[in-house]
Amino acid sequence: MQIQETEDNKCSLCWNEVEGFGYDPKPLTSGICCDLCNEELVIPHRIMISAQRGDQLKLFEM
Ligand SMILES: [Zn+2]
Repeated sequence: MQIQETEDNKCSLCWNEVEGFGYDPKPLTSGICCDLCNEELVIPHRIMISAQRGDQLKLFEM
């Protein structure tokens, strides 16, 4: 199933064009983000949030 709610396929973080469906950049920002921003910005941000919640032991003991 393909969901295309917006015609705007620009990354919300770097404004490059997103190939495919992109990634969900929440909670960093809204819209979509590209592969690179997902890996370099969104995932580290999520890890940081998890660490702040005290989940870091789970993350690193897996
Ligand atoms: Zn990007």
